[in-house]
Amino acid sequence: MSVGIAVAADPSVTRGAGGSHTVVNPATGRAIGEVPLADAAETDAAIARANEAFPAWKAVAPGERARLLRAFAAAVDAHIEELAQLEVANSGHTVGNARWEAGNVRDVLNYYSASPERMMGKQIPVPGGVDITFREPLGVVGVIVPWNFPMPIAGWGFGPALAAGNTVVLKPAELTPLTALRIAELAREAGLPESVFIVIPGKGSVVGQRFVDNPTVRKVCFTGSTEVGKQIMAGCARQVKPVTLELGGKNATIVFADTDLDKAAASAPYAVFDNAGQDCCARSRVLVQRSVYDEFLDKFAAAVRGVKVLDPASADAEMGPLISAGHRDSVARYLDGVEIATTGTAPDGADFAGGFWMPPSVVLPRSVTDAVWREEVFGPVVAMMPFEDEAEAIAMANDTEYGLSGSIFTSDVGRALRVARGVQSGNLSVNSHSSVRYWTPFGGYKQSGLGRELGPNATDAFTEEKNVFIATD
Ligand code: NAP
Ligand code: MG
Repeated sequence: MSVGIAVAADPSVTRGAGGSHTVVNPATGRAIGEVPLADAAETDAAIARANEAFPAWKAVAPGERARLLRAFAAAVDAHIEELAQLEVANSGHTVGNARWEAGNVRDVLNYYSASPERMMGKQIPVPGGVDITFREPLGVVGVIVPWNFPMPIAGWGFGPALAAGNTVVLKPAELTPLTALRIAELAREAGLPESVFIVIPGKGSVVGQRFVDNPTVRKVCFTGSTEVGKQIMAGCARQVKPVTLELGGKNATIVFADTDLDKAAASAPYAVFDNAGQDCCARSRVLVQRSVYDEFLDKFAAAVRGVKVLDPASADAEMGPLISAGHRDSVARYLDGVEIATTGTAPDGADFAGGFWMPPSVVLPRSVTDAVWREEVFGPVVAMMPFEDEAEAIAMANDTEYGLSGSIFTSDVGRALRVARGVQSGNLSVNSHSSVRYWTPFGGYKQSGLGRELGPNATDAFTEEKNVFIATD
């Protein structure tokens, strides 16, 4: 499963003044490459170049900008397998997931390639003249990406931002820079003008912090932890800089007794163990109506033991390793002193001895105050508790400062809608576990975030609305 890493940071962006990062394959723990990191001065220089490129990019005719985005999408499409293999090696994502993720970048670019030609304003009836509005790009947009989904989260930022006529500087997570660096090369090969899209590898406290502090960056689009998100928002407040925040989650699957229990139990493991639970939308709480609790637990535990935790490069793999040793340690702490109902498997061959593996497990908290029930674990641990009725299910699901996603399993359509309206989350799914579809808006209630990404209006978040009144009297 070794991959020759042919991706390096663009030397016009950084020669490594900010040091370098050794990229490690999480499945084996072995080093696979070295990426030079930018320092603050190199970051400012890249931001200045993106700013110089802005007026010309803004002036590109809408149809031509659309064509360039479609060419970018085609370039990504032609390199899906290469990008997927990079992500398997850098992030330990299963190859099936990694192919989907690269395809998602292509799809998001194609979807927003329709936007430049549809950036329509309004004509508003007013006395004494004509009133029209324009959607205008902001300038340089800074996108900050976490390590858990390096490709899709980058694309949800740069796709609509570029379509709206902004230039983009993007900071991948230090741990997972490889696919973003390659995607930036593909953008150039597809004909995007120089400096319209610049990927700057570096530390959050250095490169990310410059996106916040450098006034030339006109907006920050951040996905990551709630803790860092709050610092970004506070920093941006000093310049009244707009922010989009996609933060943590503590999402619930709610299983009612009237549902098809086999179906619900078979799907629930994948709603939390996909990407080894390192997913802001992971349904890490399962709420089950008391009358079917024991029956569901048996079926669910069997399904969890059946999750194929394998070499992520293998076509059969359903779950891979965690991102790092440190992260595995922090996830493992949630198992201390908690009743474990069942544990799945993890590979144990010599090849994987140095990797960051952890089998999936189902735990039964004693109380809703247990850390495993309250905190975002971000790993392959799911906690289960019973509820009595619809009202209690909604109250328990809402008993968290997060509000990102969730699933409801019931065969009663009225109940499905009542509960969907009652749960304070941005993205709910009935009798399924879908969260992120690029056609529909995505984002969080409460401390899960601010603003929405994706969907038909995503470009609005990367524009100012300008109002112009023309007197006719
Ligand atoms: P993180 O530690 O908050 O880091 C996210 C990004 O911010 C990284 O690129 C990081 O850089 C950078 N960063 C760190 N400190 C910074 C600072 N002071 N200024 C500017 N940037 C800074 O999050 P993570 O551990 O990578 O990712 C896991 C978290 O992301 C989870 O909480 C998860 O729920 C959340 N998430 C949310 C969504 C969503 O859509 N709601 C999606 C995915 C993940 P370095 O890592 O290089 O230091
Ligand atoms: Mg972090």
